[in-house]
Amino acid sequence: MLTGKTAIVTGSTSGIGLAIAEALAAQGANLVLNSFTDREEDHAIAAQLTADHGIEAAYIKADMADGDACRKLVEQTVSRFSAVDVLVNNAGIQHVAPVEDFPVDKWNAIMAINLSSAFHTTAAAVPHMRDAGHGRIINIASAHGLRASPNKSAYVAAKHGLVGLTKTVALENAGKGITCNAVCPGFVLTPLVEKQIEDRMRETGLDRETTIRDVILEKQPSKQFATVDQIAGAVVYLASDAAAQITGTTLSIDGGWTAQ
Ligand code: NAD
Repeated sequence: MLTGKTAIVTGSTSGIGLAIAEALAAQGANLVLNSFTDREEDHAIAAQLTADHGIEAAYIKADMADGDACRKLVEQTVSRFSAVDVLVNNAGIQHVAPVEDFPVDKWNAIMAINLSSAFHTTAAAVPHMRDAGHGRIINIASAHGLRASPNKSAYVAAKHGLVGLTKTVALENAGKGITCNAVCPGFVLTPLVEKQIEDRMRETGLDRETTIRDVILEKQPSKQFATVDQIAGAVVYLASDAAAQITGTTLSIDGGWTAQ
């Protein structure tokens, strides 16, 4: 149980981040939800978590492409909840193009949101975790943090970088009650992947079922998507006391992809 602990989940209005926020709230953690928008429905998610789980939840708008905003998100959390016990760096975007055509603005955005944001939030959170003698940093990397695919140069580079950051932060904090690990999902059916299915259907002319089986899940031997709840379950475990000696490692949830 995480009763009384405070967790930040970046990019938590949709997909994997939302499922992680719900799972941590179900364990009793107070939650800071985040995205770059400021819509009524963003705040409604926080209100729903409070109503469902009797915890305190707040939505804080912060653009994870902006390093100062990343750091401020952590400081606002500490001001409001007096702690940051669990930091889940989940916000991420994708763009697919051959390296020679890869738009520079997309490269920069993927580097900023998928990699540098975790540097900034971690740098801001670690001093508070050291003071508390406790902390869990969980980075949502990807099978693409361990393996490459064509046309995903920025994403693969950022996710490999995130795995490297994970190991370094783990070493710097070993023995201080703070762990840092990366979860590496294979394909999970979220809005981020839905767009890739639609793009690949257009390119190949195949139907949806064939595109999913033969194109999207080509490298995922189970031929099944991982679910957002399975990713969230791994995060809850890594946040628990049972995982106190797991640090600096990657946990693959990829239907066998990286066993190959
Ligand atoms: P998603 O598109 O459903 O959700 C992404 C979340 O990040 C949303 O809440 C979005 O609002 C937020 N976000 C985007 N840009 C942001 C910004 N600039 N500032 C703050 N928040 C921002 O995607 P998802 O599939 O749930 O992906 C979540 C994470 O999991 C990403 O890091 C992604 O790379 C990773 N991942 C996803 C898959 C998959 O198959 N879906 C596989 C491996 C890893």
